[in-house]
Amino acid sequence: MQIERLLHSQGFGSRKECRTLIRAGLVAVAGRILDNPAEEFIPEGLEFSVDDETWVYREKAYLMLHKPAGYECSRHPQFHPSVFALLPDMLANRDVQCVGRLDQDTTGLLLLSDDGQFIHRWSSGKKRTPKVYEVTTKHPVDDALVAALLAGVELVDEPAPIAAAACLQTGERSLRLTITEGKYHQVKRMLAAAGNRVEALHRSVVGGLALPGELAAGEWCWLDDADLTRLA
Ligand code: URA
Repeated sequence: MQIERLLHSQGFGSRKECRTLIRAGLVAVAGRILDNPAEEFIPEGLEFSVDDETWVYREKAYLMLHKPAGYECSRHPQFHPSVFALLPDMLANRDVQCVGRLDQDTTGLLLLSDDGQFIHRWSSGKKRTPKVYEVTTKHPVDDALVAALLAGVELVDEPAPIAAAACLQTGERSLRLTITEGKYHQVKRMLAAAGNRVEALHRSVVGGLALPGELAAGEWCWLDDADLTRLA
């Protein structure tokens, strides 16, 4: 693949902008600065640098973001900055989308990708992927609350009660809740239906994939093949 096209596919701008980057001597492969936009490379596994930052060619982008509070999972946010503002331009330029959404005040593990099938597979509730949330509540947690969440609570517009797949009290005002659906404001609505209220919400796990402790709020990382397998 011509390097100009390859850079374009990775989100480094239009073909013309990528050509300009190459002609300006800002693109290198294996330490060699390129000057010919038409030079061919095998894309798979290609390591290249743009303006001294190193990248590896990825046909599709799979990543996780540690979403901080105060960001919206939308490209056209209404009241807060977009999570896309936390990603490098080249990723925001690719057609990367959120896999499911977290509320603006929710923190934690957010998956993003530009692979349409992947996005559909993991955002549709059909797959019943377990998602683990650390919930801080307004009122104290007790056994009755845990039992109610496990038994199922009535939510407006839902034909049948929705039950937590797992629920564990983790503190006087905190619990770890696992759900397998992805309904709008689901955790907040479940807690409200059970007579309590969510004060803070953090998603720590999706499927078998946990948010790494070293990934600080606002940081992102690529998902490798092992992560993608773990997700299943
Ligand atoms: N449930 C909610 O209420 N909010 C989220 O952001 C995620 C799950």
